Amino acid sequence: MPHWSSLIREVPDFPKPGIVFKDITPVLADARGFAGAIDAMAAPWRDAVPDAFIGIESRGFIFAAALAQALGTGFVPVRKPGKLPAQVIAHDYALEYGRDRLEMHADALRPGARVVLVDDVLATGGTLRAALSLAQRQGATVTGAAVLVELPALRGRALWDVAAPLHVALQG
Ligand code: 5GP
Repeated sequence: MPHWSSLIREVPDFPKPGIVFKDITPVLADARGFAGAIDAMAAPWRDAVPDAFIGIESRGFIFAAALAQALGTGFVPVRKPGKLPAQVIAHDYALEYGRDRLEMHADALRPGARVVLVDDVLATGGTLRAALSLAQRQGATVTGAAVLVELPALRGRALWDVAAPLHVALQG
């Protein structure tokens, strides 16, 4: 197990009774832990650095921005509704805790741009799938995804219906 994995804290009954939430904030607060997590997430892309890492609001921003800096490439945000100032495209999806919508600036990606999607946790997979759809609608080539923790019991990987690799640093 990587040293940073012991820093992930399980919080019972958050955000609803019965859900055990993986809290990654202690990883971020620990310099060695944060660096180790970014190293692990960056490893698959070092030899094929994408044109951008696409971070999903909000914890995905933290990891995608750090990956972009570590590998010397760009960062593009996928945001909750109403947050992005210019023209957007939107995608509605089912969430572990309800329904939601994600948006991306309509001009964020040029056709053919090679991008990697980034989030902290893969649960039911709807969030990552929504980001995949947004990137594909812009004509980008999604070369993969990078997630810190996968919760395999929730089978989110089943929604990742593309050949590009979905890399997970830790199986939760
Ligand atoms: P999904 O769409 O895969 O069900 O949910 C993934 C999204 O919800 C991610 O953006 C992730 O940040 C958040 N999420 C769901 N469960 C957890 C969890 O246990 N811990 C954290 N940190 N995020 C979670």
